[in-house]
Amino acid sequence: MKSLVIAGSAEQNGFAVDSPDVSVVVPIYNEVESLPHLIEAIASSLRHSQYSYEVICVDDGSRDGSADWLKQQALLRPDLRAVLLRRNYGQTAAMAAGFNYALGKAIVTLDGDLQNDPADIPLLLAKLEEGYDLVSGWRHKRQDAALTRLLPSKIANWLIARVTGVQLHDYGCSLKAYRAELVKDMHLYGELHRFLPALAFIEGARITELPVRHHARRFGQSKYGLWRTFRVLMDLLTIWFMKTFLTRPMHVFGLFGLTSMLLGTLIGLYLTFLKLGLGQSIGNRPLLILAVVLFIAGVQLFCFGLLAELLMRTYHESQGRPIYRVREVVGKNIK
Ligand code: UDP
Ligand code: MG
Repeated sequence: MKSLVIAGSAEQNGFAVDSPDVSVVVPIYNEVESLPHLIEAIASSLRHSQYSYEVICVDDGSRDGSADWLKQQALLRPDLRAVLLRRNYGQTAAMAAGFNYALGKAIVTLDGDLQNDPADIPLLLAKLEEGYDLVSGWRHKRQDAALTRLLPSKIANWLIARVTGVQLHDYGCSLKAYRAELVKDMHLYGELHRFLPALAFIEGARITELPVRHHARRFGQSKYGLWRTFRVLMDLLTIWFMKTFLTRPMHVFGLFGLTSMLLGTLIGLYLTFLKLGLGQSIGNRPLLILAVVLFIAGVQLFCFGLLAELLMRTYHESQGRPIYRVREVVGKNIK
């Protein structure tokens, strides 16, 4: 298998001077207690490896002092850069910002709450070196609440795998490694970061997964609840649409439009038959009319949703408008 040779020249080892081998991107939203442990754990997993590295912490509008801590450390540590967003934009936007500032040949993402174990980073990189474009962590012994977290994500993983055709056990695991060029050009929004493997698969990427460690949250609390499951499901619908129909929208609109017209015609004919053939009055059939209205309205709404989705994508891409705004970047290698 072709090697990626992520590691640069030997004298570059240690922290990044110019362009590092690996950028570790961490979205941070109110994780001030975890941060010192996190940065140290990442550094010690890579310091003595063959890779030069940088850590990019993207502060997603924290209100607990995370941003100040990061700023201060980024001035002290040559291996850390702090990208501070203007407000809270969500994990996907924070990751997109990190991807944008990352200079490494490989990009590793993980959560800032120490649930992912930085010690696994070299293992993911070794997989990349085997020739994969994306290596996704699999929390085979996940330390989260069974009913509210494990069950919904089991269902979600099953669904996503079916819809996208990418068989991963654990889409939700933030610990992933990518070849940088794979994620640099992706237009992310909504909750799309968790579908990166699916988006990458559409682009023809070679994808694999690797069992990784997972710990219970030590500090702070999870930023998510069940509302996210709904948003993820909506994004899944979009992915399905993109994968199947984006190149031929008429396959969708044509099918639904025709079906709707056909049904309308059939019902019209039936009513005409009742009126003219049997001489019945058809003005007093609210159920029938309700069915017709509901059906047509449903079709219209569905198509409208798809159109709006397309428009939104076109809008984002044509404007080149980022889904986040950066307030400040502190540390080396400022672009
Ligand atoms: N996060 C973020 N912006 C948000 C919510 C979360 O940057 O609006 C970060 C958070 O700090 C953490 C990661 O995204 O590093 C995952 O969040 P969390 O641990 O709360 O999710 P869970 O592990 O419970 O799925
Ligand atoms: Mg977490």
